Amino acid sequence: MGKRLMGRRHFMKSTLAGVGGFFFLASNDKKQGEKVIDKKGTEKKFVYRTLGKTGLKLPVINMGVMNSDNPNLVRAALDSGIVLLDTAHGYMQGRNEEVIGTVIKGRPRDSFVIASKVSLPQDRITGLYTEGATTEEFLKKLDISLKRLGLDYIDILHHHGVSRRESALFEPALKALKKAKKDGKIRFTGITTHMNEPEVIHAAVDSKSYDVIMTAYNYQQKYYAEVRNGIARAAQAGLGIVGMKAIRGGSRQTPFKNPAAALKWVLQDPNIHIVVPGFTTFDQMDIDLSVMEDLNLSDSEKKDLQKEASIPGSYCQGCRECLGQCLKGLPIPDLMRAYMYVYDYRNLSMAQDLVVSMNLPSRVCKDCSQCLVKCSVGFNVSDKIRDVIRIREVPPEFIT
Ligand code: SF4
Ligand code: SF4
Repeated sequence: MGKRLMGRRHFMKSTLAGVGGFFFLASNDKKQGEKVIDKKGTEKKFVYRTLGKTGLKLPVINMGVMNSDNPNLVRAALDSGIVLLDTAHGYMQGRNEEVIGTVIKGRPRDSFVIASKVSLPQDRITGLYTEGATTEEFLKKLDISLKRLGLDYIDILHHHGVSRRESALFEPALKALKKAKKDGKIRFTGITTHMNEPEVIHAAVDSKSYDVIMTAYNYQQKYYAEVRNGIARAAQAGLGIVGMKAIRGGSRQTPFKNPAAALKWVLQDPNIHIVVPGFTTFDQMDIDLSVMEDLNLSDSEKKDLQKEASIPGSYCQGCRECLGQCLKGLPIPDLMRAYMYVYDYRNLSMAQDLVVSMNLPSRVCKDCSQCLVKCSVGFNVSDKIRDVIRIREVPPEFIT
């Protein structure tokens, strides 16, 4: 049975439940976990899927290292049977890749898979590339990443943070990926998107230049059906699909207490091959790994998800509807992302890097008699902006 047919059949089997057509799919993982023995001799059940045309057979749960600079946690993840570590050139100003480099040093090269990402300078309002976005810049960053990781090659290199079709097709980036692959510096090409995802996914498929797509995908996305359709098309075309922001953008601190259910919701889609939750503690890692014991959503997990999905205004959709509304033309989705880094990820360093990179004026959201922005999920954006913008003033040495 072709993947497209299977996707449609599962779609038809889905049951409408809750607000906004929130639905669940019938499980396609009748064959659940395979038994693996971790380094401590403990038997675990892992579910594996193949990452599209890369042929990489991976456990469905892997590690997004972004928020962790603890080598012991990364080590424990690999020792527990996790195979893929997801990082980026820009995470923690390079320290994230360095931490991974120390952990993988001395391990057999075929025992782990590294995914990293390179971004190019872009206009935060339009999502289009600006001066300095060149093939040479892209390849320079790749070489630095290889050095930090201590590797001759990266398994998957993503063209990072794409929100427009034009950017997905941006020739200098595609040229860089092609050259890196030809030179043996990367095995597979990828693209990441956490804004305007459906457009980017379709462009990535059309380009025929990518092996993997990494996309935000979660039960709180208002337009997740469009993302789902894009993913189905991409998987049908043979691309590997990585789900990110499965737990609503990483919200571990907010009242929602069932991250396992959120991961299962994403993995119930057979076209999602793996997810990379960004756990930062050993307990969180155990919860995430436990998902593989049974991918089926229980009735109580479904209820938890429906309840959470009906709460408005807790997740910036990256829908960009606010962009034309701000009197000062602020890059609001990026500011909301910085807000998420502070309050959900607790990653102040990333939030500060992001806010500083926006080159905002000294006075922000202080000169409007009234905020005209109507956020699609009801955020009071000016309150959040005024809050997060304060991170500019914190000396970097006080930010761990
Ligand atoms: S208050 Fe802030 S977000 Fe609202 S319109 Fe003014 S500058 Fe834009
Ligand atoms: S309108 Fe709201 S949800 Fe959409 S991008 Fe702007 S802040 Fe995010």
